[in-house]
Amino acid sequence: MPICLYCNEEKMEEELSQEHVIPRAIGGNLIPTNPFSLNRVCKRCNSICGTFIDGPFIKNWLTQNNRTEAILKYADITKNPTLPLRYMGSCEDIKFEDNICELWLGPTGDTIYHFHKPYPEEAHVAHMVGVPTFARKDEIDSGFAFLFIRSNNPAWHPTIAYSFISQFKDSILYLGNGPTPKGGRFSDIPLELQELHSMLRSMSGQVHSASIKMNIDYGDRFIAKVALGIGGLFLNKEFLSSKSAQLLRTFMWTRDSKQREKLPLRGTGFWGALSQDLKNIMNWPGGHVIALIQSGKTLNLFTSFYEAQTASIIISSEPQHWDGIVNEGLVFVISPGLQKYVGPKNIANYIAHKYEGDMKDKDFSMLEEEMNNIKEWPPFDI
Ligand SMILES: [Zn+2]
Repeated sequence: MPICLYCNEEKMEEELSQEHVIPRAIGGNLIPTNPFSLNRVCKRCNSICGTFIDGPFIKNWLTQNNRTEAILKYADITKNPTLPLRYMGSCEDIKFEDNICELWLGPTGDTIYHFHKPYPEEAHVAHMVGVPTFARKDEIDSGFAFLFIRSNNPAWHPTIAYSFISQFKDSILYLGNGPTPKGGRFSDIPLELQELHSMLRSMSGQVHSASIKMNIDYGDRFIAKVALGIGGLFLNKEFLSSKSAQLLRTFMWTRDSKQREKLPLRGTGFWGALSQDLKNIMNWPGGHVIALIQSGKTLNLFTSFYEAQTASIIISSEPQHWDGIVNEGLVFVISPGLQKYVGPKNIANYIAHKYEGDMKDKDFSMLEEEMNNIKEWPPFDI
């Protein structure tokens, strides 16, 4: 019987599912083939991972905003795309009854106020932007949201409206500046909200004080999962039942960060002390870098997401796991905006491509060219 990589238990064929080691939400939906797709993960692990491990990473405010930035770069506004929104935090100075007010920015810097009753929290799960992945439907108050469109260019208006509607699918939606668009998702502003509306109208476009909640260990379990997944994909079979894999498993399934700290797993986490030189090497403009690098008797995973979030972790301390597979190191570069990747490439070629003018790698160059070929935006103001 097949064994699930994440829980290490025997599973029936029909209990298995396809797992994206790099989640689709951050560009892991790679075409035409996906080197980070695992088919030896049970449905149960897949679902728990999505809720408690991938969710806190994808929905922390840094990833949310990096992702928004990256997607905006590739957006073709003439096709009226739906774009993610920038999250600014909760406004302490704006209150309505027992609602909290969260501030978001639309694609052209449009001000959005979302009022709702606080979302549930869960012990040991990092704070998430928007609806937490673990919340049940009946625990969520979708509330209502006001949109104040900033751009006066009609070319932007469908994109702004679609993006707003998509983020607040279940909320009551109001257009703050302008008459209610007829026959769509927007509602007329009721009497009891008119005072609030006038106050927001006088505030929108001004500086707000918003606060952001963030746990420094938001990505620890995620990075351990990625390391285990990558080990399962690229290393020898012995890795699967090894001590190294078991340590990653134990770490990724330990909910309490204090308990995780006691485990002998080495790595930096997203807030750790990765040197600036290494960060520079590992960054790719607008993309992700996934690297497996040998250092003495350990094989380390280095990741950099959206040029901003770097972390490292040990995949294996048993050299026979990567013998003949990884010599010095392997690198993948992912462009989440293009759904493309390059790799695995030798680390030396990658570094030469970045730092030696005359040693360009053909595949990296092609990816760079495509990533720089960004469509020009229509102006916000006309
Ligand atoms: Zn499993």
